[in-house]
Amino acid sequence: MPESKLNVAIVGGGMVGLAFAIALRKLGPDVTFSIYEGATELSEVGAGITVQRRAWQTLSAIGLEEELLNLAGCREQKSVGYVYRKSDQPEGIHLKTIQTSEPGYTFHRGELQKAMIRHLASTHTIHTRKRLVSYMPLEEGVELHFHDGSTARCDILVGADGVRSAVRSAMYTKLADAALAAGDEDSAKVLKSHILPVFSGNVIYRTLIRKDILPEEAAQHPAFNRDEVMIYAGRNRHLVAYPISQGRVLNLAMVFTAPGKEGSVYEGAWTSSVSKEELVGRYSGWEPDVEEIMKHVSDKILKWVVNVATMLPTYSDGLVTLMGDAAHAMTPHQGAGAGVGFEDAHILAHFLAHPGVTKDTAAVALQVYDAVRRPASQNVATLSRMSGRNLHFNLSAGCADLTEEQSASGEAISPDQLKEVGDAIGKLTEWMFATTVAEDREVAMQKLEVALANAAR
Ligand SMILES: Cc1cc2nc3c(=O)[nH]c(=O)nc-3n(C[C@H](O)[C@H](O)[C@H](O)COP(=O)(O)OP(=O)(O)OC[C@H]3O[C@@H](n4cnc5c(N)ncnc54)[C@H](O)[C@@H]3O)c2cc1C
Repeated sequence: MPESKLNVAIVGGGMVGLAFAIALRKLGPDVTFSIYEGATELSEVGAGITVQRRAWQTLSAIGLEEELLNLAGCREQKSVGYVYRKSDQPEGIHLKTIQTSEPGYTFHRGELQKAMIRHLASTHTIHTRKRLVSYMPLEEGVELHFHDGSTARCDILVGADGVRSAVRSAMYTKLADAALAAGDEDSAKVLKSHILPVFSGNVIYRTLIRKDILPEEAAQHPAFNRDEVMIYAGRNRHLVAYPISQGRVLNLAMVFTAPGKEGSVYEGAWTSSVSKEELVGRYSGWEPDVEEIMKHVSDKILKWVVNVATMLPTYSDGLVTLMGDAAHAMTPHQGAGAGVGFEDAHILAHFLAHPGVTKDTAAVALQVYDAVRRPASQNVATLSRMSGRNLHFNLSAGCADLTEEQSASGEAISPDQLKEVGDAIGKLTEWMFATTVAEDREVAMQKLEVALANAAR
């Protein structure tokens, strides 16, 4: 076992924290790490997740490919296409299909997370019931403070603790306090505004439908096609449907715009169980494929108020940094949030494994990580928000005052406007196909080399 050059604390054992730990173990045998998870055990919501091209590249790079192909139930690599339709009218209209020949999959979240834990568990313990409340920068390293009164020390603290991140909260409280101490009240106010997440303006209802309990005709529904994710769009709402668990279960996300509240701090509960009653009628008059799905929705529905991170001015402060939802929790309209977090994990693990990154240069590496990952991830967050507006026919210039009834008539949006919406779907997702994760990593590594050379002067 090589001597440890860096001791990393990962706060949060969600999918992004786990991906980072697996990458560190693979790339940096001289980097030790501990995972501190606040919950009593690691678990994910019982819902689906899409792993698209770039996310797959990062998961393959950390050695999960075989395990995940088994989980997907296909030995050969396959791609998943995304089919978008205007569906809030009796006869739906095809808007766009996004298809790539590169691998992409859909998974049950719990199954994906378990595969990651299995991959890691043979050599590493995850410390559960360790809820971080704050941290203290030391002369050398960082001291972590937990809810149970215990403390721990590390050389680098990585906050992978999700949208309500305690690491982000502590970081921005410290930055604001420092600005106040320097007499800069305006900056302190701005910094404080980044402590809490804000409401995205979207509410999502998530549920699963088991195929084996459906009547034969319903089980033939196109949404069970394992090669496609169906996105049924309409004014102010859409529905995403795709099969998971090797086609045995249909994952549904019913997405609604809640007008006027975007950007405010959401005071109520973020999640709650609701019955089908809350959704009855909200898709009536939609194209038959949607009405058919809605007939089979059970009473086990999770209402999810989508909150997002603000556009942080930095992810790193000294020896502390953020990744995943802690840094850039975003709307799910591109199915990309976890994937972008996997990319953070990929880049930071490569940085920390670099021989030039030691205790003395760790803060430099975290600055370059911020410079590389912040613009990239915040760009996706912006595009994802725009995708949601586009899917609700809220982006196109001529549609601002469109009512749901007008949209449902099927006549209020012209063919040119529909084409505009379809083209925008393509444009907003171009980033997914523009480069590879490996190409971006090369550029990032060059930036790290330059920064390390400058620091050594
Ligand atoms: C409806 C919906 C659909 C989505 N679909 C997709 C998709 O198809 N594809 C995709 O890529 N992304 C998708 N996303 C986004 C994706 O779910 C998130 O980006 C991803 O789960 C974030 O992972 P994370 O590990 O950063 O955070 P989390 O999953 O939130 O994990 C954070 C972990 O930190 C722990 N924790 C929290 N606070 C503390 C503390 N103080 N101390 C210690 N531990 C703590 C938590 O218990 C948790 O285990 C979707 C999101 C939603 C809402």
